[in-house]
Amino acid sequence: MIELDRRTREMVEEVRELGREYMRPMGLESDRTALPPPADHPFYLICARKGGLVSRIIGEGEESPEALAWKPMRVLITSEESAYWDRGVSLSLPGPGLGGAALRSTATPEQRQRFLQGFTDHSRAHWGAMSLTEPGAGSDVARIQTRCRKDGDEWVLTGSKMFCSNGARADWVVVWATIDPSLGREGHRAFVVEQGTPGFDVIKIEHKMGSRGYETCSFSLDDVRVPADNLLGGEAFYESRQGFKGAMATFNTTRPIHAAQGVGMGRAAHDFALDIVRNDYPAHGRRRERALERLAEIRRGLHAARLVCMHAVWLASQGKPNSLEASYSKLYAPPVVFRAVAAALDIAGEAGVRNDRHLEKLYRDVKILDIGEGTSQVQRVVISRQLFDFPRDA
Ligand SMILES: Cc1cc2nc3c(=O)[nH]c(=O)nc-3n(C[C@H](O)[C@H](O)[C@H](O)COP(=O)(O)OP(=O)(O)OC[C@H]3O[C@@H](n4cnc5c(N)ncnc54)[C@H](O)[C@@H]3O)c2cc1C
Repeated sequence: MIELDRRTREMVEEVRELGREYMRPMGLESDRTALPPPADHPFYLICARKGGLVSRIIGEGEESPEALAWKPMRVLITSEESAYWDRGVSLSLPGPGLGGAALRSTATPEQRQRFLQGFTDHSRAHWGAMSLTEPGAGSDVARIQTRCRKDGDEWVLTGSKMFCSNGARADWVVVWATIDPSLGREGHRAFVVEQGTPGFDVIKIEHKMGSRGYETCSFSLDDVRVPADNLLGGEAFYESRQGFKGAMATFNTTRPIHAAQGVGMGRAAHDFALDIVRNDYPAHGRRRERALERLAEIRRGLHAARLVCMHAVWLASQGKPNSLEASYSKLYAPPVVFRAVAAALDIAGEAGVRNDRHLEKLYRDVKILDIGEGTSQVQRVVISRQLFDFPRDA
């Protein structure tokens, strides 16, 4: 296993303490009430006061070559740790979120400065978000129907979006729209829509089967006007046909992180079952041995999944292409984690299925690993295309 730098070890320790004290209990409470923690929950203020926990994890402002090389790995490792305590709440941590990834892959330096500036205010929590998904366009993002048209110095956006994580509490949302749906991906443009812009209305907070500790919302855009400067990357970026690549580049950094969250959830299931074996199983005998063999199998699977994730982010940290490896990690980890949680449930017996216990919740929480940031089936398509170079429309 790789040797972590001091900074990363400290961050993991900090996340562990917050996880134990706040994130696990908050996640259980959200699951019980089916509501995400409110944006003014004291935990979020603690994160902000800690100098913006996420900003520190992602090492904003650190520019030395050594720090730059560690950033993606630190994000990966702390993401696994925070999901160990509660994946839902970990996704609700204040910070630019998926919107930040979109800014990093698409925005001009001025836009990055402008929209990330707010996160240096640690007097309260701030969130960013990103919205591609629409009622008729999930995996096939080329089908988005939200329209954008230029009107003088402004762009006007009209349409509706769904499943936007942290969108209702975000300072701004990166919204993908199209100048003409018949152009497919080449018609795509990304805009920063700031909270409070007239016509931007949150319609509902989605009710989810699991991972309830963060909010996902649907919203409508009714002739929303944004300044031309809010077009991410500027017009030249899209003239060079970079728009869709920008959206996809976002996922090359976030897919391994999503997969690593699964590893954290698998570890949580493993630890739950191990406690049961230690405390409730006979001290000796075949039953205990069989259970420990299954726990060892869980650990083997999680270890391999972690390495696949690490390889994908290591490539990113070296500035090397990683889209294939990012998809490998996103496809590889979820089934390993599903099997881990299912095996832990078997080992725990009735203690695992009681819905006042963490394991039953994990069983529902893990399903999202298969869906968000490109379904498993879509990863299969992406991987085969890259490996065998078959045509896009095949
Ligand atoms: C909790 C949660 C949070 C989310 N947060 C965000 C967010 O912050 N921002 C955002 O933009 N989106 C977000 N999403 C949306 C998410 O990215 C989409 O749900 C995902 O892309 C899948 O789209 P879909 O649900 O419409 O499924 P569909 O695309 O309709 O897929 C349905 C089924 O068809 C399969 N399928 C689709 N296309 C193909 C193909 N070409 N070949 C083979 N099989 C295929 C899929 O694998 C799947 O099994 C979130 C979703 C959830 C559940």
